[in-house]
Amino acid sequence: MSIYGFLHRSALKQLPECLNEAGYRCIGPRVREGAVTFGELTSIDDLPRGVGDEQRPAHYRLGEREDERLFAWAVGPQGLKSWLFTPRETLWRSRRDDDGRLYFETGSPADDRPLAAIGVRACDLAALRLQDAHFLEREPDPGYRKRRAGLFLVAVDCTHPAETCFCHSTGDGPACESGFDLALHELDDGFIVHAGSEAGERVAARLPLLPVGEEQEAARRDQQRAAIDAQQRALPGRNLRDALFANLDHERWQAVAERCLSCANCTSVCPTCFCHSHEEVPDLDGRTSEHLRQWDSCFTEGHSYIHGIVIRAETPERYRQWLTHKLGSWHDQYGRSGCVGCGRCITWCPVGIDLTEEATVICAEAGDD
Ligand code: SF4
Ligand code: SF4
Repeated sequence: MSIYGFLHRSALKQLPECLNEAGYRCIGPRVREGAVTFGELTSIDDLPRGVGDEQRPAHYRLGEREDERLFAWAVGPQGLKSWLFTPRETLWRSRRDDDGRLYFETGSPADDRPLAAIGVRACDLAALRLQDAHFLEREPDPGYRKRRAGLFLVAVDCTHPAETCFCHSTGDGPACESGFDLALHELDDGFIVHAGSEAGERVAARLPLLPVGEEQEAARRDQQRAAIDAQQRALPGRNLRDALFANLDHERWQAVAERCLSCANCTSVCPTCFCHSHEEVPDLDGRTSEHLRQWDSCFTEGHSYIHGIVIRAETPERYRQWLTHKLGSWHDQYGRSGCVGCGRCITWCPVGIDLTEEATVICAEAGDD
């Protein structure tokens, strides 16, 4: 039977200790350079206690709260993507010996202990499922597979969505429904803990859990309802594929491109974007070479360079590629939209372009049903 109980706030410190004892390296949200991002956790004191955030298009600020809550903020600029699909990774090295024989070795990560991620949100669990669909099935990647196989997920229900969040409209949040080992729901005095896997049950069994009272259960329901009600943005509620492809010549593509800087911030922060490029970096000794894979973006010139031609030379074509792929052709490739409603691309776009607004305008015309 699944473990479900209440963990007092003061007992949460036992969670990273249990995970460390089980052989995991713990990461979790930490305040760094004015933002909440995942980093190594040495203790529960590293978490952002009493921190809140304010987000809107092109705006992100942290502030102090008057309570001790650890997770009363919405997603920061970084999800789990960079921990599994690393921004820059050596895939292999080659070396030629004195007799001209060529040797290859694969890159090895500095620390390959399994990872436990504390504080993962529902949108990031959904993004992880999409990254799995790509890197485990469509384009199998040994490094991703290894990191993913060892990953232990401690999810946290979102109780304070940002103004830019819209995960409820994509069906991906704000509560964590599946795909975790443990899920936490933060209340004033502690956490409702729910195990979602056998590994999660083994860890939960070592925590001093108490029965969940009726008041705590009611508080959880109230917070979940409030988190849904707080979300004011939404994507048009239907499969947008046909509507976008029926509007490839819409005048809005040009209008949005007049604001867009082609900076690729949106694709960097997006937890589902997986475009990448490969680079061979030979050493000056003429004998060794390193093969790198690094993040790329549909907003860079090089990403659409094919046989001497840049096929998406201008920003309208690049923005259209981003939106029609993310919200359209992902349905053909992965069976659903590529957007999980985290709102990061809205917050971190330096000019505040909002894909929910662009999709609503572009899909308001013919072909949207
Ligand atoms: S497209 Fe924007 S809102 Fe959707 S998952 Fe990516 S970053 Fe989040
Ligand atoms: S939409 Fe915004 S974040 Fe994305 S490339 Fe354009 S300016 Fe940069």
